[in-house]
Amino acid sequence: MAVSDALAGLDPAQLEAVEHGDGPLVVAAGAGTGKTRVLTARVARLLEAGVPPERILLLTFTRRAASAMLSRAAVMCGDAQAAQRIAGGTFHAVAHRIVAEHAQHLGLADVTVIDPDDVIDLIDLLRAEHGLDGTEVRLPTTRTIADIASRAINTATPARAVIEEQFPWALEQADAIAGLLRHYRARKRERGLLDLDDLLIAWRALVADPDVGARLRARWDWVLVDEYQDVNQLQVDIVRGLSPDGRGLTVVGDDAQAIYAFRGASAGHLLELVEAYPDATLVRLERNFRSTQQILDLANQVRPGELRLRLVADRPQPGARPTLVTCRNADDEARTIADRILAAHVDGTPLRSQAVLMRTGSHSAQLEVELKVRGIPFHKFGGIGYLETSHVRDLLASFRVVLNAADEVSWYRLLTRHRAIGKASARALAGILADGGIDRAADAVAAAPAKGRTLLASTLSLLGAVDSTTVVPELVEACRGAVDPLLRAYYPDWQRRVTEVDGIAQAAARQSDLRTFVSEQAIDPVNVAGDWAKQPHLDEDWLTLSTIHSAKGLEWDTVHLLRANDGAMPSDMALTSSVGLAEEERLFYVALTRARDVVDVYVPAQLPTHPSAFMAKHVAAKPSRFLTEPARALMESVSTAAVTSGPAITRAVGAPRVRTDAFDELFA
Ligand code: ATP
Ligand code: MG
Repeated sequence: MAVSDALAGLDPAQLEAVEHGDGPLVVAAGAGTGKTRVLTARVARLLEAGVPPERILLLTFTRRAASAMLSRAAVMCGDAQAAQRIAGGTFHAVAHRIVAEHAQHLGLADVTVIDPDDVIDLIDLLRAEHGLDGTEVRLPTTRTIADIASRAINTATPARAVIEEQFPWALEQADAIAGLLRHYRARKRERGLLDLDDLLIAWRALVADPDVGARLRARWDWVLVDEYQDVNQLQVDIVRGLSPDGRGLTVVGDDAQAIYAFRGASAGHLLELVEAYPDATLVRLERNFRSTQQILDLANQVRPGELRLRLVADRPQPGARPTLVTCRNADDEARTIADRILAAHVDGTPLRSQAVLMRTGSHSAQLEVELKVRGIPFHKFGGIGYLETSHVRDLLASFRVVLNAADEVSWYRLLTRHRAIGKASARALAGILADGGIDRAADAVAAAPAKGRTLLASTLSLLGAVDSTTVVPELVEACRGAVDPLLRAYYPDWQRRVTEVDGIAQAAARQSDLRTFVSEQAIDPVNVAGDWAKQPHLDEDWLTLSTIHSAKGLEWDTVHLLRANDGAMPSDMALTSSVGLAEEERLFYVALTRARDVVDVYVPAQLPTHPSAFMAKHVAAKPSRFLTEPARALMESVSTAAVTSGPAITRAVGAPRVRTDAFDELFA
């Protein structure tokens, strides 16, 4: 296929964007209008025109999105090798590469990335060290503290102001919280740890540096960004810093799909960019090439915007009406979804053309069990696979202490897997090992509680037998050997976990660069969540389970929307503010606009009191408030049984992924 063939199918507005020269270009358009396709075609066009691939930087929100675009561009321009040489990936992944490359410049010996759960562990550790963990101390939970830090960073607001505005009940503790966050920042620096926000902060600092910034600007002539509606201020600064005059800059996005306000993204970045560059060109795309008109009618109803922004389908047939499936309870919901997935499969829609989307990862607890029982293979993206990730993270922690002995959080994690070592001892031992590395193994063993010494000595001797210079398969094998007995000691269901750990161990053993692999898992743990969820049979065809956040930009023939209940979607947490509610509405809109042909929306009449508990009591649940009368009028209603609906459920649904770090001044 030549690029010209790919261009032949584009409509005039799309073509204008693809053929645009090197002036700053902003494509602002609705879901499914071909923004990503335009970006891909533009990349293919540049390659065809002889632009060296290394001179192109392509930024996306997920690793999957980046690799999908690059392989499509490769097909279009017929040069797979060239496309592979493009610098592409998520903001965090690219930041990681650049930061690693400039570690010395940043005063870092090593770059070890910690994920949001490590952040919680580290702040917990510091709380204990500073006597802020007892019940007599009235500090908010660590998650809330991490959340405060994250909002401070991502919106460039002092922590105190964030507390005043969003956590007024914690105001009395503002000094203690700010103090704790300063310790957190100092400890990360001391141990060479970077959290996800630190990566962006460091990248931005490098871009702002006169020498390094100039070199980075000279590296890429073309910077292209997908899903620009969801960037935060740090990312805006990076993009504008890389392209101060807008030469070669292309961004595409859709404000109606902005779903990261909780992380500091604010709608309006797209148009701000148009104003920032006086010679910017704004292209709007009008036709939706993805969904049927019936699906778009429902989406338009959920988010009634200006007439001009309503989605209009390019497809000639209006398609089938979306279905509203009322179920008895969460178990019935799980069975019904599985039934309908299999029915669609029999009717010719393979599993890979279907997805189950959910507001929060934990909502699929019952469904995951149902799918496993029926042998329906699936991959889960986004959220935390509730059955799984913990033990995989144990193995990653062992890699990390071998690669960076100062990684105190990972030591702590491994030590708490020792049955006989309590949290307080684990903290003390983690400190010893992080300070002195494996050389202090004997001291650590001596300081451990007597009944834990034998196992600890064996763990440390296995880990001590390898170091960062060991060849990867051997290093991985040693770590696996060290972690196995811990899993056996810690988890009653260790057998399954050991098998699953083998999956990730095998993937790790194939890497040429383990350090990058480990950091990538912290940045975007997609592969961890996927690889070993795969079932042995039918394994070329599998179903996608995904949070709506992780489904951004993607599409399937059939979309099953799980748990459209108040309290789940919109989530409980959003119900208290109108800002939150608007964001939930955009999420609902994003979910609906992922479907090409079929949308099934599931509404259980009863839900468990806890999202992932199997034995929990079921209580009456209300349909989502987004399923208004006019919206329902556009849907086909089916019900698995006569049901009664009751009062709204009030329960906590999982928190958003928090991200933290600190600019010192924000925590003064
Ligand atoms: P989102 O906002 O969800 O990210 P988008 O604007 O990026 O959507 P794309 O994913 O690029 O939209 O395109 C949506 C679908 O429409 C894809 O399957 C794409 O291949 C198809 N498509 C885009 N443009 C055309 C076209 N001109 N002719 C036919 N199909 C098209
Ligand atoms: Mg897109």
